[in-house]
Amino acid sequence: MIGDVPSYDFDVVVAGGGIAGLCAALTAREAGAKVMLAEKAPLAERGGNTRFADAQMRFPHEADEYGARTYTEEEMIADLMRISRDRANRELIETLVRNASDTVDWLTELGIEWEPGYPHTAGYRRSPKAGGQGLVDTLFRRLDGRGGVSAYETAAAELLTDASSVVTGVRCSSPDGVVDLHARGGVVLACGGFQANVQMRVAHLGRFADSLILRGSRFNTGEGIQMALAIGAQPAGQWGDYHSAVIDARSPAVECGVTALYNFQMGIIVDGEGKRFLDEGEDFRDHTYVKFGKAIIEQADGAAFCIFDQQMVQREEFARAWRPVGPPIEATSIRELATALSIAPEQLARTVDDYNRAVQPGALDLDRLDGKHTEGLTPAKSNWAMRLEEPPFVAIPVTGGITFTFGGLKVDSAARVIDVAERPITGLYAAGEPMGEIFYHNYPGASSVIRGAVFGRIAGRNAAERVTGG
Ligand SMILES: Cc1cc2nc3c(=O)[nH]c(=O)nc-3n(C[C@H](O)[C@H](O)[C@H](O)COP(=O)(O)OP(=O)(O)OC[C@H]3O[C@@H](n4cnc5c(N)ncnc54)[C@H](O)[C@@H]3O)c2cc1C
Repeated sequence: MIGDVPSYDFDVVVAGGGIAGLCAALTAREAGAKVMLAEKAPLAERGGNTRFADAQMRFPHEADEYGARTYTEEEMIADLMRISRDRANRELIETLVRNASDTVDWLTELGIEWEPGYPHTAGYRRSPKAGGQGLVDTLFRRLDGRGGVSAYETAAAELLTDASSVVTGVRCSSPDGVVDLHARGGVVLACGGFQANVQMRVAHLGRFADSLILRGSRFNTGEGIQMALAIGAQPAGQWGDYHSAVIDARSPAVECGVTALYNFQMGIIVDGEGKRFLDEGEDFRDHTYVKFGKAIIEQADGAAFCIFDQQMVQREEFARAWRPVGPPIEATSIRELATALSIAPEQLARTVDDYNRAVQPGALDLDRLDGKHTEGLTPAKSNWAMRLEEPPFVAIPVTGGITFTFGGLKVDSAARVIDVAERPITGLYAAGEPMGEIFYHNYPGASSVIRGAVFGRIAGRNAAERVTGG
């Protein structure tokens, strides 16, 4: 580069203004550090994936006035480990779970108001009343109010290191050109996964991944991960897998937000030929929606239909668990519905007849794994199996989308980035989506925002302590 790069001095520089970056910046500020938060997006689009989310948070909790049962730390650890098929880094999971309730209390003190999360889920969770957008706006306001500096359209591009390989800052592109942000305490990478980078997606997830609908921010293009790898950070986690959801197939291709159906377990899912291909009632929907989204992508054209009858459509929870992108397709008979979906009527009628015959008697209870199942049917429906018999029948076209990627950087429980020789890189921290080793294969609903919040706080505190001495 010709000429001097303007440089600015801080204690802690945070790259990214989603939940992880905001929690890192606020915590570093609380610890007395001089903080800069560099956000790649313009002000109106700040907040990353967090702003598109309902931002439900799962955390251990006593039974509450909304009728939720007690959810213990040990249960949450067991859920997160089991859903990763025991591949998640147990130390990171324990750190996440044991700090989750405190983190929610801290967010409450910062002014976040809560409401109960979606019904029919496995673990305890709450949603910020104002959703992810409100969460982001409140935390930016708090950061401004407490003297943190934020810069928009300022994208971290390259880590600055000294002769001992200590990270001393980050070079960014900004509306004023290239700038160096020096950080005496450390740089926190909180700039998302690589889900919005089509080249990285295809390279790591596979050829199919170029056309996935992007649910969240178009700014999460993987630079945080790449710039850490460039100075010797260790890649970790499941680089070939990602978070998906069962989303309305009519969703916009980029930044579609919450268009997921969280009621698919109330009906059946068929492919474009009218055949079932998974057990819709295998587990609570927040333990299946991610893997089902990916299973749908594996069907021809990545397309499928959720089909319901009026026994479910009329329930109050049905509408609460679906934000329509377009009207449902309705018909008074299954054959008519098939024609409207361009499926061979005989095949869909056979699928529904076989399913209806296999449904066993029993009481429906959507709040627990009720064991109301099918018998002699492949694939089975293991819970919540009700006959499809009350017209009009309703279908919603669905596909899978991409929310965030599972592969990232090796990070320890102090949020320090670990190098290829297993040593922490002094001055470099990561939080939220750039972290590997938390999610594998599937995903326990409502775990990513809380992950960002918990590790953001840890990263911010530890980076600040390098300056303030703790
Ligand atoms: C529709 C939808 C619904 C969801 N619902 C939930 C839910 O209810 N509960 C849950 O737990 N999770 C949910 N998720 C997932 C969750 O929102 C995210 O995984 C989580 O918020 C990520 O937080 P983060 O801070 O790591 O990243 P983000 O919130 O994505 O923030 C990353 C930030 O980094 C910025 N950035 C990117 N590159 C750079 C760079 N080079 N320099 C500087 N800044 C950069 C981006 O602009 C962005 O602001 C949902 C996601 C979506 C899209």
